Amino acid sequence: MMIPTIPTPDELLDKGFRRGKKAADLARTSKIPKRLKGKRIEETRVITACQVIKDRLKMIIDRVPDIETLPEFYQDYIDITVGVDDMKKALGALNWAYGILTQLEKDYAGRIRRAPSEKASSLQKQAYGRIASVVNKIKKDLDFLDFAKANLRNMPTIDFEATTIVIAGFPNVGKSTLLRQITDATPEVANYPFTTKGIQIGHLERNWKKIQIIDTPGLLDRPILDMNEIELNAMVALEHLADAIFFIIDVSETCGFTIDAQYNLSEEINRIFDVPMVYLFNKIDISNMNRDNSDDNLNYLDSYLDNIDDYLLISAYEGEGIDEIISKLERVKKIERKDKYNDDDYL
Ligand code: GDP
Repeated sequence: MMIPTIPTPDELLDKGFRRGKKAADLARTSKIPKRLKGKRIEETRVITACQVIKDRLKMIIDRVPDIETLPEFYQDYIDITVGVDDMKKALGALNWAYGILTQLEKDYAGRIRRAPSEKASSLQKQAYGRIASVVNKIKKDLDFLDFAKANLRNMPTIDFEATTIVIAGFPNVGKSTLLRQITDATPEVANYPFTTKGIQIGHLERNWKKIQIIDTPGLLDRPILDMNEIELNAMVALEHLADAIFFIIDVSETCGFTIDAQYNLSEEINRIFDVPMVYLFNKIDISNMNRDNSDDNLNYLDSYLDNIDDYLLISAYEGEGIDEIISKLERVKKIERKDKYNDDDYL
């Protein structure tokens, strides 16, 4: 998300006061902007300082997108990462400062204008003190926005028109290998809260159907019971996007997890995501590596396959079953969700 550079209170004040002084210096040489013509030097200083600080605050307020108009996924993302309420509070504080500065500007400009000339300078100093106090009051809000800027950098770019597949499965079952096999270029890597390696998004297009495949290393790859609330929220944010889950099970168990444990995880995820799940039984090229089984048979999978409607046996590494996966991807139906669009047609 684009948050502009956030100044500290000192930077804001420095700039405002420096520009105030410059305007006053110009006024002495009578090279002054029209709107400040005929004003006292002190009045010019106060007005200019307030304007400069207000312009900067306004620029920040205007440039931060209105969170409520964003797709729900981004709202969740911002909420998990920095907190939507805190964000609103910080922007509210900037607005408050803007309002107070407007009043101060008017108030002191008038007072300076009416005051005897020997009083003008002390009134201007008083105004500067008030300005500084207002700007210092929003220090924690500016700090927060700076923190938000840093944390909301490199947010994932989601294509809300594409059909979206979320890949899940324990670490090392072959998720990223698969993503590389089925999508075009190297996947986009973006930040995602509570993932070890961020989020990876791969794209492919088949018969004009845009498909995006999302892998979240470190998130959908361990028992849900082990997750804290924030991690759960990070997972639920994905629910706004997923049209289907492709769950990968490593049949060789070389990932370090038994098929049983992997299957259990799939059931947990199935309970949370209310979308179709396709099982990809991966690493069939080494399926019997650790088994007392010289034949190439996968009988030991029967008890699982009996309970599953939709599955494929694949080897992501050797490219076996990739065409079938792509046919499955093509058949995934996009779930039309109101919250995916800002378009008025959907509201
Ligand atoms: P991720 O953590 O789920 O993304 O797993 P990776 O894609 O990084 O794969 C983990 C390891 O398993 C890597 O060494 C892969 O080369 C290997 N691997 C992935 N798919 C297969 C497969 O189908 N067959 C074999 N033999 N190895 C695989």
